Amino acid sequence: PRDSLSLRLGIHGAEPMSDELRDEIQERLGIRIARDYGLTELGGPGVSIECEERCGYHINEDYFYPEVVDPESGKSLPDGEIGELVFTALAKEASPLLRYRTRDLARLDRTPCPCGRTFARHGRILGRTDDMLIVGGVNFFPSQMESLLLAFEELAPHYVIRLSKKNRVDAVAVDVEVTPEFWAARSAGTLESLRSTIQYKAKEAIGFRMDFNLLEPSSLARSEGKSKRVDDKRQSRRDRL
Ligand SMILES: [Zn+2]
Repeated sequence: PRDSLSLRLGIHGAEPMSDELRDEIQERLGIRIARDYGLTELGGPGVSIECEERCGYHINEDYFYPEVVDPESGKSLPDGEIGELVFTALAKEASPLLRYRTRDLARLDRTPCPCGRTFARHGRILGRTDDMLIVGGVNFFPSQMESLLLAFEELAPHYVIRLSKKNRVDAVAVDVEVTPEFWAARSAGTLESLRSTIQYKAKEAIGFRMDFNLLEPSSLARSEGKSKRVDDKRQSRRDRL
């Protein structure tokens, strides 16, 4: 449809959109896409928006004062650290919002943006505070695992992340199914080499070592509705956040 469109710019909000999807829409429609972030409680869309340099979302700081806090203690975190986005509405009347906790996780960046705008930026929303896991002191989101696994064409999108304690240390094992094609053509060697490649990439991308079990197609339980991707058998609430 790109020839019949007189659109130049699309502003997209409400649902998280990956960089890949943004680029695909941009390419197919021949327009520029800017992703927008907002919350109903803060007045809807327009809290922040991507600029043409695509290096984060500029926060409209004349209306919203941003902070990033540790989701557990509520203490402010320095710029660049992942934490919960918190906004104070500066111009809202009748229903003021002070230090409103969004439950969305991102980083703040106040370094100058190549586009010339001086408003602070936040990075893409990495997940919800409810989704964040802390493994051996490292913040980890199931969505990171999903991106990693989906990049392997030998793997099917069926996996479970299992967390446990081994000698008081967090241990992570991921059960993931391979595709029927890969399974049909497998040998001990191809399975092992795929497993070690995934393990290496995971350590590089996520920051700690974990084990991967490659399973036969259809071996994980399917559930109706939202699948259970995380099985956390550790005891304390602090580990799970
Ligand atoms: Zn910019």
